Amino acid sequence: GPSIVWIRRDLRLSDHPAMRAAVARGGPVVLVFFRDDLVDGLGAAPKWRLGLGLEAFARALEARGQRLILRSGAVRDGLLKLAAEVGAEAVYWIRAYDPASVARDTEVKAALKEAGLVAESFAGHLLFEPWTVETGQGGFYKVYTPYWKAVRTRSVAEPLAAPGTLPAPRTWPDSEALEDWSLGAAMRRGAAVVARHVSVGEAAAQGRLGAFVAQKVADYGTRRDFPAEEATSGLSGHLSLGEISPAMCWQAGRRAMEEGKPGAEVFLKELVWRDFAYHLMWHTPHLLTRNWREDWDGFPWNEDESRPEVVAWKRGRTGIRFVDAALREMYVTGRMHNRARMIVASYLTKHLLSHWKTGQRWFEDCLEDWDPAANAMGWQWAAGSGPDAAPYFRVFNPVTQLEKFDPRGTYVRRWIAEGVQRPTDTALSYFDAIPESWGLSPDMPYPAPVVEAADGRTAALDAYARFKQG
Ligand code: FAD
Repeated sequence: GPSIVWIRRDLRLSDHPAMRAAVARGGPVVLVFFRDDLVDGLGAAPKWRLGLGLEAFARALEARGQRLILRSGAVRDGLLKLAAEVGAEAVYWIRAYDPASVARDTEVKAALKEAGLVAESFAGHLLFEPWTVETGQGGFYKVYTPYWKAVRTRSVAEPLAAPGTLPAPRTWPDSEALEDWSLGAAMRRGAAVVARHVSVGEAAAQGRLGAFVAQKVADYGTRRDFPAEEATSGLSGHLSLGEISPAMCWQAGRRAMEEGKPGAEVFLKELVWRDFAYHLMWHTPHLLTRNWREDWDGFPWNEDESRPEVVAWKRGRTGIRFVDAALREMYVTGRMHNRARMIVASYLTKHLLSHWKTGQRWFEDCLEDWDPAANAMGWQWAAGSGPDAAPYFRVFNPVTQLEKFDPRGTYVRRWIAEGVQRPTDTALSYFDAIPESWGLSPDMPYPAPVVEAADGRTAALDAYARFKQG
């Protein structure tokens, strides 16, 4: 009989073990995506990007005589209903690891089994599932380097080829229309601008990986820290939606390493950072919601998001060029260079003494590559409240960091228009992306710093000293 593949954050045909299981079963395959409350709860940019991903994935399926069925509502009831409609005997999917998805999936699996269906989930979103990596004492890792040492020589399964055929059902079950979901609604006029910068779909993801290992990975180790250079893979948005599997990226990186390309191992290490974030989230889900180190609960974070300096931070008008360039890059492209993410996070949590959750939420709204684990880990790392975090007293200086990592001023010119004779197109495009209600124009003077680098450092260290004294 037919089987159902429940599609979630795995918008691909290659290396898809749930699809493979459905095909191996022999009957027709029905692929379904549910817009449930987890989808409704996504931030503006990730929700919009999901819509683009679904559109591309549906088109890829149609090219193979298949379809992506779209349904809304609670998944448990929705899957039971769909299974009854098509006479399905089995439902397959790829596992997720965030607490909300785990709770939902556990309930769904139990209900399907109770109804007499085969319900089976598979690995595929990570290189190593969180419970498969243990310390010598049988615990989990809280520090990256020993985690890396524990996994670096492990074998990662060869990625599966895309199924040769995906047998279609005799009649198609009803599907909602993607346009009616309006997944991009909250992006408003920003969508048209950001769309010029995002790469969408499985074919694009594979192309990007291929180009990266052919042209960039060799120098990745030395150039990846310079935000004006396009020296990184740009795969994070694809990985977030599963348009490419991490195993496929790993395999490409391993091959590059065997060919002697020096940056390849650094790339593998970064892929493992992604897994490490999931490892932490799985073992300590409060990574997403609270100070990972409980003793940080006494730290005097300011949670008032209406403070002018916080508003200025979100709008890229702090008067600190590295910070402003980075926040604008995110608003225009849906992404931000990793070094820049560290700088803006440090400035918000240290110079402005704002709670890291303010930044976590803003990123969750603006990043097309938003990932719950990587984002939470990144913020708690920068704030000092996380495991393996940068010590709080190590405050990045956003001025000297700019001199070091943008020595020719390319990054700043790319993103800042005010006070510039002939601003670049990208810098001007920021003003097309932001809401008109922000009242900003490229003709305004560039602002004086809301908090100077040196003053912010002093304030942060004072707050830390008082906190340490209790
Ligand atoms: P590459 O340098 O090409 O790295 C390859 C892949 O490795 C990336 O695509 C990503 O999947 C993974 N990776 C690299 N660095 C990290 C890292 N530090 N942590 C986890 N995974 C990593 N990454 C996200 O994917 N989504 C987020 O929401 C996110 N939020 C962040 C928030 C903060 C405050 C910080 C400091 C970092 C955050 N990162 C996040 C991690 C990192 O900045 C991005 O993964 C990276 O910039 C993506 O660019 P790339 O694909 O070109 O990366």
